[in-house]
Amino acid sequence: MKVKDKLSIIEKRIAQTCSKVDRDPKDVKVIAVTKYVSNERTAEALDAGIQHLGENRDDGLLSKWETLGNRPIWHFIGSLQTRKVKNILDKVSYIHSLDRHSLAKEINKRAISPINCFVQVNMSKEESKHGIQPEAAIDFVKELEMYPNIRTIGLMTMAPLTEDEMVIRDCFRNLKALQEEIHHLDFPHAPCTELSMGMSNDFEIAIEEGATYIRIGTALVGE
Ligand SMILES: *Cc1c(COP(=O)(O)O)cnc(C)c1O
Repeated sequence: MKVKDKLSIIEKRIAQTCSKVDRDPKDVKVIAVTKYVSNERTAEALDAGIQHLGENRDDGLLSKWETLGNRPIWHFIGSLQTRKVKNILDKVSYIHSLDRHSLAKEINKRAISPINCFVQVNMSKEESKHGIQPEAAIDFVKELEMYPNIRTIGLMTMAPLTEDEMVIRDCFRNLKALQEEIHHLDFPHAPCTELSMGMSNDFEIAIEEGATYIRIGTALVGE
């Protein structure tokens, strides 16, 4: 199926979900996750009207960057090794996976102006998942004050792999509560107004629970 057709299906589902919970669809930004697909398919996504692209590996991002350059707004969504920061930093507008001081320090050192970051939180506490533990998130965000080139615009999480909708919903709901708590602390370096959550299988639940950025791969550009 063409990306254009997949996009109109996704947009319809977003609109339906938003009307259910009385949200404006404009407040939900779609990041097309292109890690599974070719440069050609990615270009097709841009032609279809997609503005935000997400990649989870530095080599994937660099390869697509070669052909697409600054046309899309780039999001780095995967776990980021400290030594890879320099490869991607001048290309991305958002980093969704800030979860430790060593990474914050490196981003801060390499950036020439403040970069929008999401602090990744491991809400499901699965061993395999990256992210800071929820109990440690507030202190961590507070400490990010020491890095002037890091602007914490929100929180990000990945829901656990489960069929249990309540478990997924709880994960998103708890992230939202944490985001609001941090937002209300009024840190100048951390407005923390955004929520990056929801993928192909759970984006409607994420929107119902307040997602402002959803990251969709398979259902949007995959086959
Ligand atoms: C791959 C990936 C996605 C998209 O996953 P789909 O299930 O294909 O929509 C979203 N977020 C992150 C961090 C990913 O690595």
